[in-house]
Amino acid sequence: MEPEQVLHSRRALTLRFDIPISRTHEFWDALKQGRFVTTKCSKCGNVSFPPQADCPKCMSNEFKWVDLGREATLVTYTYVQITPASFADSDPYIIAIGELADGLKVLAWLEGIAPENAKLGMKMRVEARTSKEGNPYYVFVAA
Ligand SMILES: [Zn+2]
Repeated sequence: MEPEQVLHSRRALTLRFDIPISRTHEFWDALKQGRFVTTKCSKCGNVSFPPQADCPKCMSNEFKWVDLGREATLVTYTYVQITPASFADSDPYIIAIGELADGLKVLAWLEGIAPENAKLGMKMRVEARTSKEGNPYYVFVAA
C-alpha cells in the first residue's frame, strides 16, 4: 500500500473571530456590571441559556431579560491538561457544567480550585471576569 502523501506544516495557527451579538449584547453589558441574565420568551415563557434571541421551543423572536441566580451545583467537569492551540498560553483548566436553581445548565471554567478538590454536587457561584482583550466572560468559583 502506497504511503499517504501529506504536506507537513509546523506553523502556529492563530484564530480570529467576530461573534455577532447585536440582539444579545445586553447579556454582555449586564455581565460587565456583574449581573448574570438571560432571555425569557414572551410567548411561551421558555428560559434559555445561553441567551437566545429566537426561542428554540416556539421560534418567537420576542423576549425579555430575566436575572439568573448565581448559585450552581457541579454536575460534571473535565480537567484539561493538554490545552488546545487556542488556549496554548493557559495553564491546565477545569471545564464544568453547573446546574442553576431553576434547572438551567451552564458551561464555564471552574477557577480557583485544584482538580482533586472538585466534587460532583459541590456548590459553586457564577462570577464575571474581563479578558485581556477587554471582553466580559463568566466563570464558576467554589461557593
Ligand atoms: Zn417560546
